[in-house]
Amino acid sequence: RLYQARVAAFDSGEARHVAVTLHDATESRRLEQMRVDFVANASHELRTPLASLLGFIETLIGPARDDSAAREKFLGIMLHQARRMARLVDDLLSLSRIEQTLHVQPRAAVDLAAVVEQVRDALSPLAKDNRIELVVEARKILVRGDRDELLRVAENLIENAIKYSAPEPGQADRKVWISIESHDGVGILSVRDEGPGIAPENIPRLTERFYRVDVGQSRAKGGTGLGLALVKHILARHRGRLSIQSLPGEGATFSAHAPLFE
Ligand code: ADP
Repeated sequence: RLYQARVAAFDSGEARHVAVTLHDATESRRLEQMRVDFVANASHELRTPLASLLGFIETLIGPARDDSAAREKFLGIMLHQARRMARLVDDLLSLSRIEQTLHVQPRAAVDLAAVVEQVRDALSPLAKDNRIELVVEARKILVRGDRDELLRVAENLIENAIKYSAPEPGQADRKVWISIESHDGVGILSVRDEGPGIAPENIPRLTERFYRVDVGQSRAKGGTGLGLALVKHILARHRGRLSIQSLPGEGATFSAHAPLFE
């Protein structure tokens, strides 16, 4: 543990006193370290696609100037890298906005079924491309919240399920089950997949910013490593929480809990 000492001396007239206050600075040192790590990680994540973009621009104005086939190919890669940077900046901005308003609980009535329907429509092309069937069991359940933020939660969980449980070539198509239920004054949106699952030691780390079980796989699928950190913060703002259940080889279930609108 880390202690900071403060020393104060005073005279009472009869004697001279010295007071030493010990202050446990472990927690504030830990938070400061997290902030430093976060800035370093964010810079690193941005620098990688930026370096690639710079390299291609230099090639395009230099050696590949008159090579139209190379130009076509490089522009495609550059578009991909620029989109990755845009996604990262969007997620960073969302995270900082949510953190600034963390203590204010959103108050509108939001129908989780309508949220799920909207996300299902938006993500069905991605599901189809990944040979995933989205199975929805939803009935109207009103929670107290912010519709856009809850859309973000559903989108992240469903998109992850599609991306990380997609079958390999040669494997059978798979399903992702999305359900909504209420229990003890809480609305629960669950997303279950038939993917490879997550090792128990990795589960608590999934909501850390930039933590990914497999960085290469996350990048290849367009991930930023910030999705579940954002989900956790949004649900905390709703006085709710995220729960994760998984066994390696048996898929994963991510459940978002938020208080009902009563
Ligand atoms: P990313 O942008 O990498 O998807 P997230 O914060 O959304 O970032 O998720 C963090 C990591 O959690 C992912 O990189 C992946 O390793 C793991 N993960 C998330 N959802 C699933 C899932 N449904 N099945 C297996 N692993 C998952």
